[in-house]
Amino acid sequence: MWKCPKCGREFKNTNQGHYCGKAPKTVDEYTEQQIPETKEHITNLRNIIKKCVPGVS
Ligand SMILES: [Zn+2]
Repeated sequence: MWKCPKCGREFKNTNQGHYCGKAPKTVDEYTEQQIPETKEHITNLRNIIKKCVPGVS
């Protein structure tokens, strides 16, 4: 078990991505709360979507 030092919640995986007490309002907030690897993955994914779909931010 791993206990988040910020919100005190316990998870099976160390550095488990979670809302840390409050739910994110935007995708940016959600991305901010992820572990670095996940964050990079989401950012890459969003860049690909932006390139492929005009008008999506
Ligand atoms: Zn937390």
